[in-house]
Amino acid sequence: MKYSIPRGTVDLLPESTKTWQYLEQLLRTIASNYNVQEIRTPVFEMTELFQRSVGETTDVVNKEMYTFTDKGDRSLTLRPEGTAGVVRSFVENKLYVNPDKLTKLYYMGPMFRYERPQKGRQRQFHQFGVEMLGLESPYVDVECMNMAVTIVESLGLRNVKLHINTLGDEESRENYKVALKSHFKPVLPCLCPDCQARYEKNPLRILDCKVDKDNPSFKTAPKTQDFLTDSAKAHFEKVCALLDDLEIDYEVDPNLVRGLDYYCHTVFEVISEDPELGNAATLGGGGRYNSLVEEIGGPSTPGVGFAFGMERLAIALKNKQDVAEEGIDVYIMPMGDEARDLAVQIISMLRANGFRCDMDYAGRGMKAMFKTADRMKANYTMILGEEEVKNEVVNIKNSVTREQVTIDLGKIVEFLEGEYGNE
Ligand code: AMP
Repeated sequence: MKYSIPRGTVDLLPESTKTWQYLEQLLRTIASNYNVQEIRTPVFEMTELFQRSVGETTDVVNKEMYTFTDKGDRSLTLRPEGTAGVVRSFVENKLYVNPDKLTKLYYMGPMFRYERPQKGRQRQFHQFGVEMLGLESPYVDVECMNMAVTIVESLGLRNVKLHINTLGDEESRENYKVALKSHFKPVLPCLCPDCQARYEKNPLRILDCKVDKDNPSFKTAPKTQDFLTDSAKAHFEKVCALLDDLEIDYEVDPNLVRGLDYYCHTVFEVISEDPELGNAATLGGGGRYNSLVEEIGGPSTPGVGFAFGMERLAIALKNKQDVAEEGIDVYIMPMGDEARDLAVQIISMLRANGFRCDMDYAGRGMKAMFKTADRMKANYTMILGEEEVKNEVVNIKNSVTREQVTIDLGKIVEFLEGEYGNE
């Protein structure tokens, strides 16, 4: 029996984990700059949580969830997105009792959606997401968008654009839904079966349809902005003014509604024009959700957040060659059994002193070991032959200058520290 990887998943092999570690480190650093703290929630939750929060009219819940019944007869689902679990935890752990008023959290990890795999679209993929809970202020919407923009800028990704829109408050949305329904009513028979169902349950979702998106009726559809209440309008105007002040480049896209049910007011997406991403150009997106915490059983708490698809960031990053290719400090090359035993002692001492080291265990010849040292990008090689063992010294060679020196066993750390200190 030959085993192969499940469809829609990938193995990240050492050559790509380098890019991933670089990406993860950068995301953590930016989170720390924004004083956003990490939260880790389970990869599975009660199925109902997603039905309730993501929404029963969405593709994610309707078609894409990995749902199973466990031995205790509970219906569980592998998380298709991160917000629901974070909000569930926020409520369950009473994080809303926060004298600072605003709770800022981030998560990073695998998500699962049963989708048709293609470039930038997998069944197990990873997201980095941020949730800011506690305030309805447009300043917080902009803090989120600013952070999203900082991420793409720090990754050096060019040709990336911030698209924004507003869905308004409850009242604006209700008025807008009525207008959308009368707009789409005459063309309803020409729309896909999903849109026909959405028409009844949640007409906003029609605008999010990938099948009908080129139907001419989409171009002439009413715009959310024409249905805003005064306060929803003021909120959006403040968001735009703050983005202008920060000189953040953005485009208002009236058809942007986002795939999940819980959004209100500001929604946004970060879209790349990198041709390699093709149909997977949306690097990330998010928006405001003011009723979700209450929906999940907590006290009324407004929130705003976003999530980036990490595979897409990694694809975009791959085109950038400057992901640091890190090598090791020392590669030890013992000749013979006695030398190998001594090398084990030396390597353990070097590691304890913070040096990144490796050594040969295969008992190979000099030439082969030098080749390995090259591949590992070792800054120094350390040769330990019979002579060296007898004299209690090592031969240390600088891979760049090719200078070679003989050092007493007891002075290796001192020597290397000196070398690094002199750089
Ligand atoms: P969403 O939660 O649908 O708003 O998705 C947020 C981001 O996650 C998207 O912009 C993508 O970058 C990424 N994403 C969503 N679904 C997938 C998937 N199946 N495979 C890879 N990335 C995905």
